[in-house]
Amino acid sequence: MRFRRLAIAVFWTLSGWAQPPVSVPVAPDPIAPLVAQLDLERYKATIKGLTRFGDRRQGTDRNRAALDWIEAQLKSYGCSNVERLRYDYQPPVRGAGGASGRGAVGGSGVRAVGPSGAGGRGAASASGPGGSRRRGIRFPDTVNNDPMKQPDVTLRELDTPPSIPGLREEVYCSKVGSTHPQEMYIVSGHMDGIGYGEAANDDGSGSALVMELARIFSGPGVTTDRSIRFALWNNEETGLDGATAYVKQRKDLQGKESPAGSGRYPEPTWLGMIQHDMMLFDHGMPHRDGTMSKEQRPEADVNIEYQVASKFADAAMRLANKFQLANERYATDYPAAIGPHMTNTDSTPFMDLVPSISLRENERGSQLGSGWDPHHHQPTDLYATFNDDDFRLGLNAAQMTLAAIAELTGAKSR
Ligand SMILES: [Zn+2]
Repeated sequence: MRFRRLAIAVFWTLSGWAQPPVSVPVAPDPIAPLVAQLDLERYKATIKGLTRFGDRRQGTDRNRAALDWIEAQLKSYGCSNVERLRYDYQPPVRGAGGASGRGAVGGSGVRAVGPSGAGGRGAASASGPGGSRRRGIRFPDTVNNDPMKQPDVTLRELDTPPSIPGLREEVYCSKVGSTHPQEMYIVSGHMDGIGYGEAANDDGSGSALVMELARIFSGPGVTTDRSIRFALWNNEETGLDGATAYVKQRKDLQGKESPAGSGRYPEPTWLGMIQHDMMLFDHGMPHRDGTMSKEQRPEADVNIEYQVASKFADAAMRLANKFQLANERYATDYPAAIGPHMTNTDSTPFMDLVPSISLRENERGSQLGSGWDPHHHQPTDLYATFNDDDFRLGLNAAQMTLAAIAELTGAKSR
């Protein structure tokens, strides 16, 4: 029998014909049907749902209404254990330094300051946040603090009430692993925004991505070996305060069964943290006159960043690699690139405790920090600002994260 097979193979080889296909049973790919459940129109609808609450500034009614809506959505998906984390937020006293200096000169449309650094004059001036190196044409990345810059009166009125210090809440839910419920990956975005627009991109796009994944992983017949937590942080824009509160309150609960013998783990041990923040807009570098390309650049990519100066840098780099490979296999349109300077994002408070990465439309320090997204924290961060080529970049990031997390947690679907 064996000889006969060999003889046939030799015959096919010697005769110069391609060997006939051998019918080895191939296990069906459990990830592809999950990725196929992601849909551009559904992703857009979730972003649109978030933009109904304006810029969702923390400490306002519009922020709390958005939180209630997100919670209701997560429950409707069947995501387990929808919970809220509570913390107190008091803004830093003005003039005391720290993160309070973020609100700088604002203004949509025209860039008040000319380009700098084109041609790379002086390495010192080219260093950006997170240890990044800024190159090429650079414009300042500013924050709009003036509600009157919002021309849409209805939206302006929604966005005008100021933040009041005090109690804050943020919501998360979980997919409980069937064989290792005591370990989990955290998949997150931030639901608060600033700038007197609709925070459609920053960070409706990342929040909607997390919500879509919560929906698909909670679907009927989907199981994972390990747990996944879907978190929508609040207070990112004030200096990562919501994610920091979560780390402080819950890091020491990791892996503890409670009640003892119940098989329940309120805080599974963290295996990795993946933050999604601004997923839509990659129109390239600003032109020398400060204008931008109107269209998504065809070579747009999703930027995966880890922080080379963090305690888990090597493991985070390997995690980033897994995401890039998942992108190659499952993302339909746009590739992924990896950079070592993750910064200004909710994965920062996690990065010395667990391998942490962030996904974005551009690198945060070198590119966003050089004015690559003119809608960043501006009144123009509106659902209507973006078109399908923009939304598709966010969808590709969702395909990548879904596939990578499905593989890392041993997802199966029937
Ligand atoms: Zn953001």
